[in-house]
Amino acid sequence: MTPIEVGLTPQALTLVWPGGSTTLSAQALRAACRCADCRAAALRGQAVPIPAATMLAGLAPLGHYALQLRFADGHERGIYPWAYLQQLAAAQHPSS
Ligand SMILES: [Zn+2]
Repeated sequence: MTPIEVGLTPQALTLVWPGGSTTLSAQALRAACRCADCRAAALRGQAVPIPAATMLAGLAPLGHYALQLRFADGHERGIYPWAYLQQLAAAQHPSS
């Protein structure tokens, strides 16, 4: 499923799906980042350092399947497939 609309503010990413919309905070997205650096830290059993004031600085669509998110501190290699973003949103709101 591909969102109808993607909205970005420094604090959050909003995705509008055919069945409703979901919002993911910059903090949650950063914590879920799967770029090489973050995965390497996770494999070493370390927490990924997340700046206290994590903000989103931009996004780039990757084909029709994913978004690449850029954070204000220059962290920009994380790729978020639509399915992964849906999983994150579902985990955030288990009832919906
Ligand atoms: Zn990362």
